[in-house]
Amino acid sequence: MASPGRRRASDRERYRERKEGGWCVRNGCDNEAIPGEVFCDYHKELDEERRAKNIAEGKCRCGNPVVEGRSRCQVCLVYHATYSRERYQANKETEKNASKARYNERKAAGLCVRCGKLAVPGKTQCEYHADRQAEREARRRESNASL
Ligand SMILES: [Zn+2]
Ligand SMILES: [Zn+2]
Ligand SMILES: [Zn+2]
Repeated sequence: MASPGRRRASDRERYRERKEGGWCVRNGCDNEAIPGEVFCDYHKELDEERRAKNIAEGKCRCGNPVVEGRSRCQVCLVYHATYSRERYQANKETEKNASKARYNERKAAGLCVRCGKLAVPGKTQCEYHADRQAEREARRRESNASL
């Protein structure tokens, strides 16, 4: 006996199982999914076609009506905002740590902290970058003096 609620639950279950097993989640498809994706080659292409069609029709890529003045629906806007903010934060942290580590490494090795070439003795930068910085500082002093 299949009540509607029961069928929804088993669809979700099936989706999860197929996704975890690395199979295309599209109904009746027996292809392996592209690694990291939920669809096989064929269905991913179909999905992209549908997305392009939705966008061409002025709808959100998922087919929902868009929020006025935006190119996405409410659901996608919220999803995208959360997702990209998290990713942005994560990237920023990694990038900050990586560049700090690189800076310290180069400084300790007597290399230019900007490009990794040999630094001018007693400085943290190579001739080129030390010059550039001196120039920038001179310009800044000039513009301050002319104020
Ligand atoms: Zn498929
Ligand atoms: Zn949407
Ligand atoms: Zn340099």
